[in-house]
Amino acid sequence: MGRKATEIIGINVEELIKNLNCALAEEWLAFYQYWIGARLMVGPMRGEIEPELLLHASQELNHAVLVVNRIIQLGGTPILTPEDWFKYANCKYEAPIDPYIEVILQQNLDAERCAIQRYQEIASLTNGKDFATYQMAVTILNEEIEHEEDIESWISDIIRLKEEFKSMRF
Ligand code: FE
Ligand code: FE
Ligand code: MG
Repeated sequence: MGRKATEIIGINVEELIKNLNCALAEEWLAFYQYWIGARLMVGPMRGEIEPELLLHASQELNHAVLVVNRIIQLGGTPILTPEDWFKYANCKYEAPIDPYIEVILQQNLDAERCAIQRYQEIASLTNGKDFATYQMAVTILNEEIEHEEDIESWISDIIRLKEEFKSMRF
């Protein structure tokens, strides 16, 4: 724990650590949402999208690393058991019971929008007060925004593909 590192922060450190633990829980759920969905997925463009979803999964894990490191620097304890993932997370985990690609992508999209909300919140909480956490939150936020945009464009490509297929004459 860095004493100076926590002294310099102009906000309630406990509240911040709680917020970071929520983000940590959400990253693990997002990781598994991507990772298991990528493996089950069926439907158009699966071959192209599957490796992208696995890449996103690994980026979510990397976010978890950044968040854990920051919690420890602040003198906090990261959540220690998977049971806490559901207690802390505000984003829902949606079991991919239907493996159709559009359903899987929509589940991932919901998780991304929730993550964007989370890091936007952490960034505004720390803006001008805790530069280290602020910078981390903005770094992750930018990647979540990229993820959202990726998924939105895959969904619209699939919709377009289906429309073109429908208008074909055999
Ligand atoms: Fe993430
Ligand atoms: Fe993401
Ligand atoms: Mg991507």
